[in-house]
Amino acid sequence: HAKSQGRSRSAVFDASMESDQMNLYLLERDLNEAVKKNELSLVFQPKVDLASRHVVGIEALVRWNHPTRGETPPTTFIPLAERSDQIVRIDRWVMRHAVQAQARWRAQGLATLPMAVNLSMADIMSTNLVEYLGDLLDEFQVPAAAIEVEVTESCAMRELGKTRSVLAALNLRGISTTLDDFGTGFSSLSYLRQLPLQSIKIDQSFTFSMLEDPNAEKLTQAIVAMGVALKMLVVAEGVESEQQMNWLLAHGCHLGQGYYFSAPVSSDDIHAVISGIELRLAQGAPGLH
Ligand code: C2E
Ligand code: MG
Ligand code: MG
Ligand code: MG
Repeated sequence: HAKSQGRSRSAVFDASMESDQMNLYLLERDLNEAVKKNELSLVFQPKVDLASRHVVGIEALVRWNHPTRGETPPTTFIPLAERSDQIVRIDRWVMRHAVQAQARWRAQGLATLPMAVNLSMADIMSTNLVEYLGDLLDEFQVPAAAIEVEVTESCAMRELGKTRSVLAALNLRGISTTLDDFGTGFSSLSYLRQLPLQSIKIDQSFTFSMLEDPNAEKLTQAIVAMGVALKMLVVAEGVESEQQMNWLLAHGCHLGQGYYFSAPVSSDDIHAVISGIELRLAQGAPGLH
């Protein structure tokens, strides 16, 4: 009896595994068409200077509207794209549309805030990344200061030498670099010092736990202090409350990003959202009274 129960349970398990595999296979196939079929789009999330309460940057995040599944999160399809070598094509689409958005906003007379795009390992390893981005800036007549790149800590550490040379080449072209998801990888402090970075972005898991867990609080404090000591701009992601914002400001973190300010929004909404954040922070002015 026990045996048959065990078997049927494992049969169910296997079947669901198989359909998961099938789902991923189908998704991977559809992803191959997504760029061509115009199913990708960008959303934008502000980065806020905690001391001045001004929005000082924007991050571009990719979205995929699948024809039958609807919105499919990047946490599902980016790993799939990385596994199947489609990520370079997707990220070049992202870079092109990020630069294009900057050109459009500049033509409308809007102030240019630096816009960050996320890069994967394969982008860093690809042959002419810096040239591709440089050509885009020339084509759309957008200054290099309008574009930044974010590379995850785990990516950077896996290919340290190559990452170092590509980031240095981006810097030479005037493009700033950020280490994303900092604190989740395995970088030693000496590696961090070797990379030409202007900024580190503390992973949101620290922001979520720092007010709950004293150890997380001390770690976050140490990461901020280290970034400041290395003369990098320190950004915290995942800021969801005023308390978190105030803690970060009090501990010397420069920028914050998260739902407390705004979730990522469409290009149609981003400028109204930026004005709204600045108005709200100026009125509320928490910490000023
Ligand atoms: P990331 O670059 O670390 O981006 C932060 C993620 O956290 C985003 O999820 C963002 O929407 C979300 N987030 C922002 N504020 C908050 C908050 O206050 N609370 C919570 N719970 N979440 C918040 P998203 O857009 O789903 O992207 C997930 C990841 O996918 C990104 O993490 C990035 O690693 C990757 N990704 C997104 N777009 C691209 C892209 O164009 N190219 C590449 N290669 N990767 C991308
Ligand atoms: Mg990022
Ligand atoms: Mg991140
Ligand atoms: Mg993250």
